[in-house]
Amino acid sequence: QTKEYEKLRDLPAETMDGERINLYVNVGGNLDLEEIGKQCPEGVGLLRSEFIYIDSEFFPSEEKQMEIYERVYKQMGGDGKSLTIRTLDIGADKNLDYYEMPEEINPSLGLRGLRFTLAHESIFKDQLRAILRVAHGKNIKIMYPMVTNLWELEAAEEILNDVKAELRAEGKTFKEDIEIGIMVEVPSVVLLADVFAQKVDFFSIGTNDLTQYILAADRQSSEVANLYDGYDPAVLRAINMLSEAAAKYGKKVSVCGEMGGDPMAILAFMSFGIFDLSMLSAFVPRAKSIIRNVSLEEVRKLKDELLASKDSEEVREILKRSLRGKL
Ligand code: PEP
Ligand code: MG
Repeated sequence: QTKEYEKLRDLPAETMDGERINLYVNVGGNLDLEEIGKQCPEGVGLLRSEFIYIDSEFFPSEEKQMEIYERVYKQMGGDGKSLTIRTLDIGADKNLDYYEMPEEINPSLGLRGLRFTLAHESIFKDQLRAILRVAHGKNIKIMYPMVTNLWELEAAEEILNDVKAELRAEGKTFKEDIEIGIMVEVPSVVLLADVFAQKVDFFSIGTNDLTQYILAADRQSSEVANLYDGYDPAVLRAINMLSEAAAKYGKKVSVCGEMGGDPMAILAFMSFGIFDLSMLSAFVPRAKSIIRNVSLEEVRKLKDELLASKDSEEVREILKRSLRGKL
């Protein structure tokens, strides 16, 4: 199979009827960084920047961050590809040795992601400065994690504008018109998708957290592992709702949670009109192989059936049936 996959390397992720699917990779550590050069068709769809903070002795300086973002950009193959940097996403399950998070009974529902960086403006500003400066002349985008409300996005926008003004005053070069996207991880964003769609440049669905918050089942708890299921039709309906609202405003949607590289889920996303997927680089060849073995026309027919499903078992049946002989 490895040989088969090797052959796919230079072939596009294109369906039998000619629809191109854009595949990106997720980077969450130095190990991934070494792998991306080998296999990242369109670039990095999710740079989990927290690994830079976790690997440091203290909050990394602007210069240190710039160095690493530069390295990622170069490693993925540079121009012609795109790099989406997610701003610091700590809290809940991700902690830093050198920083004591507040005690909370429910950290997953507490101070994490964008909530944390909005509450710690200087940490946020250092990161935004680093990204803006490296992004100059490059295809680099910013993505905020764990967005819940519109006012958070507006607060982030204000800070970003302040940072730009500071850089301008210092005479530093940076990317003025950087694209801003948000992770779709909290159900409120799905319910207000039309409102957010008028505000952002793109969406990226974080199925790991979205599943956890839609089903109120901790992604890390083995006690409720039977409930935590991305194939639950409630999750699929949410993804489709988001995709439809975004399309109305011409905004791109990608998937960057673990489901993005899952063979059965890929068919579901394609049926909802989502053609941008980000995954661990190891899953790219398998994803390509599936995409090249289906026709979009056939896949599109799954949409209504998936959305009408009563439970995840039904969803799995539909997708398993459709994948038969395609892997
Ligand atoms: C997600 O929640 O799906 C996601 C991609 O973010 P993380 O797994 O880093 O929380
Ligand atoms: Mg997440």
